[in-house]
Amino acid sequence: MSLLVVGSVAFDAVETPFGKRERMLGGSATHFSLAASFFTDVRVVGVVGSDFGESEMEVFRARNIDTSDLERVESGKTFFWRGRYDFDLNTAHTLDTQLNVFADFQPKPSDAAKGSRFVFLGNIQPDLQREVRESVRGAELVALDTMNYWIESARESLIKTIGVVDVMIINDAEARQLSGEANLHRAAAKVREMGPKTLIIKRGEYGAAMFSDAGYFAIPAYPLESVFDPTGAGDTFAGGLLGYLASHETIDDATMRRAMIFGSVMASFNVEEFGTERVARLTHEEINERFRTFKRMTHFDEIPFERTGR
Ligand code: AMP
Repeated sequence: MSLLVVGSVAFDAVETPFGKRERMLGGSATHFSLAASFFTDVRVVGVVGSDFGESEMEVFRARNIDTSDLERVESGKTFFWRGRYDFDLNTAHTLDTQLNVFADFQPKPSDAAKGSRFVFLGNIQPDLQREVRESVRGAELVALDTMNYWIESARESLIKTIGVVDVMIINDAEARQLSGEANLHRAAAKVREMGPKTLIIKRGEYGAAMFSDAGYFAIPAYPLESVFDPTGAGDTFAGGLLGYLASHETIDDATMRRAMIFGSVMASFNVEEFGTERVARLTHEEINERFRTFKRMTHFDEIPFERTGR
């Protein structure tokens, strides 16, 4: 197996200006693994409760996602998150977080999971992220996501986890909050000093930026006229990005740049409908079409300007 994800598998209740869902499949590991499954084999480490049904499991099975490391606690309930988005769809307002089975979760990755080449530490308590990271000793590349909830409530532990990863993937508000710097370039430098060689900052409808030893690379978001539900966009981006990387033998800056585009392409589909609905029925043709559009949208020729006639 090439790509392992640990993260939340959840029920989400979401309200946006365009609609509302009281209970739908969500969670960082769910969105991530669905997106990554278009590029590589994915295995999920996580926990669900007895309320997690066959129809939810079927969403994973239909994409050949390995759920043998997804623990089921019969005496508990699945993680639950309730959020609201106003017209600024870049900002999620958390109304309720119920950790439920995540409160006592002890990740126990199988031997197969421990042999993964790539690892994504999705948004969960940072001690759990670090435990998983340490159990996959031979991983070639480990990436990390987090959120304001953990930056506030578990800062020390989070900083330790940031110290043992290669790539960090967070949004602009989180980069500012974590570093205490308003300027994004300064914020990026501070976060990179904490450990990760590469920092990827998601900027919602404004795209994404990558800071690494190779320099600075930034892309716009795919231009969409209708965005219904941004929940999971960040994890879907990370899933496309790491899934693409995991499909390669070696990774250089050019691969990383293309991976950013595939991440954005996947996120663009995710936000078009509620929850996992759109990504679950996506085709490779649709993915490649948006990839080509990205190329056209951002390409320009290098023709140095010379003023003539004077
Ligand atoms: P994002 O990709 O950042 O939009 O992440 C959305 C997902 O994160 C939702 O499907 C939620 O179930 C999940 N989530 C929200 N809060 C937390 C939390 N504190 N810990 C783990 N997962 C969370």
